[in-house]
Amino acid sequence: MLKSGFGGGGDASSPLKLFTNAKKKINGIYRDIGNYVSEFHTFVEEIKDVEENELVHQELVDHIQTCAQKVNGIKEMLLRDHMKVVFFGRTSNGKSTVINAMLWDKILPSGLGHTTNCFLSIEGCDDKDGPYLLCDGSEEKRNVKSVSQLGHALSQESMSNDSLIKVCWPKNKCSLLKNEVVLVDSPGIDVTEDMDSWIDAYCLDADVFILVANAESTLMLAEKKFFHKVNERLSKPNIFILNNRWDASAAEPDLMEQVRQQHLERGISFLAKELGVVTPQQAKDRVFFISAKEALNARLQRLQDDIISGMPEAGGALAEGFQARLIEFCTFEHSFEECISRSATRTKFHQHTQCAQDIMKSLLTECESLLKESSRMKQECDEYNEQLENQITFLEKRLKLLTAQAKEAITRLVSETEFQVRQAMSDEIRRLSLLVDEFDQPFHQNMMVLQVYKAELYRHVEEVLGRNLSARCSSSLQKQINKSKQLMLDEAQPLFECSNNSEQEPVLVSQAQNSAFDMSYDINCASLCQDFQEDIEFKFSLGFKCLMGRFIGSRKAIAPSEVPRPISGTGEVIAHQRQQADDSLSLQDILTSVAASYLKHNNSQSAGMLVGIIMVPYALWRTIGWKAIVFTVASYGSLYLYERLTWTSRAQEHALKRQFVEHATEKLNLITTFTSSNCSHQVQQELSTTFAQICHKVDEISKELKSDSEEMQDKSSRLSEIQSKIKTLKNKANFLSGDIDSFVKKFLHDYAV
Ligand code: GDP
Repeated sequence: MLKSGFGGGGDASSPLKLFTNAKKKINGIYRDIGNYVSEFHTFVEEIKDVEENELVHQELVDHIQTCAQKVNGIKEMLLRDHMKVVFFGRTSNGKSTVINAMLWDKILPSGLGHTTNCFLSIEGCDDKDGPYLLCDGSEEKRNVKSVSQLGHALSQESMSNDSLIKVCWPKNKCSLLKNEVVLVDSPGIDVTEDMDSWIDAYCLDADVFILVANAESTLMLAEKKFFHKVNERLSKPNIFILNNRWDASAAEPDLMEQVRQQHLERGISFLAKELGVVTPQQAKDRVFFISAKEALNARLQRLQDDIISGMPEAGGALAEGFQARLIEFCTFEHSFEECISRSATRTKFHQHTQCAQDIMKSLLTECESLLKESSRMKQECDEYNEQLENQITFLEKRLKLLTAQAKEAITRLVSETEFQVRQAMSDEIRRLSLLVDEFDQPFHQNMMVLQVYKAELYRHVEEVLGRNLSARCSSSLQKQINKSKQLMLDEAQPLFECSNNSEQEPVLVSQAQNSAFDMSYDINCASLCQDFQEDIEFKFSLGFKCLMGRFIGSRKAIAPSEVPRPISGTGEVIAHQRQQADDSLSLQDILTSVAASYLKHNNSQSAGMLVGIIMVPYALWRTIGWKAIVFTVASYGSLYLYERLTWTSRAQEHALKRQFVEHATEKLNLITTFTSSNCSHQVQQELSTTFAQICHKVDEISKELKSDSEEMQDKSSRLSEIQSKIKTLKNKANFLSGDIDSFVKKFLHDYAV
């Protein structure tokens, strides 16, 4: 049960609440900062993993980790933070009694036989755990149920005067303990010379020092010396002087005021002048005249009887001035609570808030620089993407234009090629007889020799014809093709420049330039003249067969249009068609032709000769008789003999060549169109290949640009997300900084001394 009134510190308006509220608040702030720092850390780790290394550097990650470690360290320190008051004074001045009175309980044994010979700290613990003892550094909890047990335990311990025993008392039993005040009782200041070690061990983190003096004597040198040493080590320590046992003065009321004044002046002088920790005015409020014994008894009685006015122990009579001393004790408690709460709040939390502010300030700066850097990167990214999109549009438009131009150039060159090749072939066909005459190989009527002769003749014609055509067309066409290719490449040049890979275009140029175009005319003479059949048998020009052949020849000549248009390399087809045409001439046709020729008396040489052969001897027979007939027969025989004798190998060769020229001319005329279109097709193929290569490269560049653009868009949207996250972090940092500022205003500035 918590006590109220008389400075019990249990109510909500207790000055101690300043510290506990501040601690609660700063704990909350550090919890929020801890969460914030870990959120920040996760965020930067994520960005770092998603390849934005240029945005997040290792230094930033390290800095955030350092902040996280600091925050965790301070959070742990905050859990341990409490208000600490240390009591000093000579042995039996009543330090333990003062502590008991302040705690409204006889926690520490006092009086004869219970002189404290080591440091004792009393701090709160959970109700279910306490009370228990912890002896100097040991974690072993020693069970203590009552003061007598504690006294017994303490007396059993043989402790050195600078060792510490922790008394852990249930918080709910004492409001001071509940409000995180730790009270430390020391051995009498007169028992040691080694004050330095005491100060180092127990005083450096103390918020308030209470010197418990004996009002019946003056301040001793040992006491003063100790506080001088404390003052050297700590900056302006908070010191209260309690002149205890003031109840003894009640026995001498005449001297009481004089003695009080003397003690007060000495106390003020000690605090203000000797130590200089407060002003003389402030020092007045640090010196009290109390009776701890009376206060403790009154409180114990009150707890027992629930009586407001104090009663002396065991029903003894009220000493003179008891009420005033009790009130002064309460006044001391109130001043002490205000002082320790303010001091502890300032010393314990000022540094923490400073640290929190520094952390938040540095993280805010990081947020701002991240925001700035991400904005710059996003802008760069968007600008680059715009550039890429413009390049893609340019590429598409330019490629359309290039395609139209290339199409036109190819069509023009194809027509040109077709014309040139046709022209050249016509010329060469006209000159075919000269070309055949140039052929000079041994000729013989023998079948085998004849076959070889013909094969060589075909090869010769094919070779020379090809060479001549090439000489006439190839070089000029080559020039035009190269020019067209170069034009295409020149037009495509700006498109290649859009690529990030500058090696692409030179490779293509060198490929285009190195590929020398070699046109194939595809004149296969052997195949073309496969159906060529020479006729080098002797034939008498006035013989029956010959004369008939002439009639038939003229008959055959009337249907040249029946021969279909041949296709290159299809000599077999041509021969077959010719054979069909031959077969289709029946005997009836031949006779009809002879009769028709004869009856029509046409002017042909054959008809005249026939008439001559039949009619002239008859006429001569009739007019001049048998002599004329003999003459005619002799003439005929002489002519035959002449022709038979002049039918030499040379004449045969000549006849073959003439027949071949006729045959080849006809065949070559048939394939002229095909050859020229074949050549133009080759040119078209050549140029189309180059154009296709250009298109392929442009397509690659376009793909590359599109992929880059997509990448930039992704990066830009990622950066937008990052920016919005950074903005959130920045707002949170501002909010937390505001929280820290309001904490400083509320708990540190307003109460700063
Ligand atoms: P410590 O050694 O400084 O801790 O002193 P204690 O608290 O043990 O007190 C020593 C003795 O002084 C005890 O017998 C107390 O009862 C007594 N004592 C303490 N305070 C007062 C007081 O205000 N008036 C009187 N008359 N005796 C007191």
